[in-house]
Amino acid sequence: MSNSPTKPPLEKINVAVFVGLPMIALVAVPAWGIYHGFSLAQWLWALVFLYLNGLSITGGYHRLWSHKAYEAHPALKWFYALWGAGALQNSILIWASDHRRHHRFVDDNEQDPYSAGRGLWFSHMGWMLREYRTNEQDFSNAKDLQRDPIVMFQHNHYVALTVLMNVGLPLLLGFYLGDVIGTLLLVGLLRLIVNHHVTFFINSLAHFWGTRPYTETNSARDNGFLAFLTYGEGYHNYHHIFQTDYRNGIRWWQWDPTKWLISGCSRVGLASKLVRVPEIKIQRAILDTQFKRARAQMDEAHSSDTLRAKFEREYQQFTESVNEWTALQAQRYEAKKAELGGALGEKRARLQEKWETATLRTKFKEVEYSLKMQRKRMELLMKEIQLHAQAQPA
Ligand SMILES: [Zn+2]
Ligand SMILES: [Zn+2]
Repeated sequence: MSNSPTKPPLEKINVAVFVGLPMIALVAVPAWGIYHGFSLAQWLWALVFLYLNGLSITGGYHRLWSHKAYEAHPALKWFYALWGAGALQNSILIWASDHRRHHRFVDDNEQDPYSAGRGLWFSHMGWMLREYRTNEQDFSNAKDLQRDPIVMFQHNHYVALTVLMNVGLPLLLGFYLGDVIGTLLLVGLLRLIVNHHVTFFINSLAHFWGTRPYTETNSARDNGFLAFLTYGEGYHNYHHIFQTDYRNGIRWWQWDPTKWLISGCSRVGLASKLVRVPEIKIQRAILDTQFKRARAQMDEAHSSDTLRAKFEREYQQFTESVNEWTALQAQRYEAKKAELGGALGEKRARLQEKWETATLRTKFKEVEYSLKMQRKRMELLMKEIQLHAQAQPA
């Protein structure tokens, strides 16, 4: 535990990287800016590097390797492995293994490596600065990654790759732009530190600040502002309940450049088998959370019997919709089985099948629609419960 009397020893390399480098940057970047100045090209290159690093962590390390939300062409994997090494956040293997533990044991201070339960600082970067027991490496949850030659190549040559991407590449760029020191400072150093902290926000702020529309069983939050800073990863409440979805911002208007990158790659053959959680499951999760919240509020406010009756009616309808949906799923499964069973061939049978599929689809749409409408009614009911609570004498 973090409050044990003797703290574990410091991780010296990590302290040098995560504390030492920012201190150097704090002095050297403004000093060079004042005495020499930075060009617009240097700022733009820093931004390009920032996004290439960031998207390799979110699209590669996170959604591809940690969660298998899609499959990627080797060319894309190499791209992620190189630019991800440039983000200096450890190898894919270590990062993904830690992250899988984070999901499995979320908020468990004994097992989640960056548990939000141990505070904002700890989950942001404190966890990396000491040899905490929760950091002990155990790749038993990453056997699939150990079989991936690209993952293992990056793991075995990690130091060389990260030096190449963080020093070698900015150095070359510096020669090209005619200012080696300035480019090393801006595109090398400052870009690295900014990318570190915006990625760390996902473990820290995204577990403290925002809304919980999909589940209240863990601390993860949805936050549009954080999504803007974190290449789309700020929809973290959604992500913690549906971690295999290649999207974190599921609505088209939600800022999620990682999902746009993945779907763009799928259009040109670089990504395939993109996992999307069906809309009906998403609606169900939202409603489930609304019901739990409403029930707790009614208990707290000692709501009237009429309000409770209304709530129970809604809840019953919800249960019915869910049951109907489960039955439809079973029907669909049976239909698929029959199709595979060889009832095919005759024109009539095929037409019958088409008709059945269409009917099923309509029924699914109906359930989906009724859940959507119920969500709207629940929002009104929540407001009513709150009004009643305010009207009551304390
Ligand atoms: Zn999380
Ligand atoms: Zn995740």
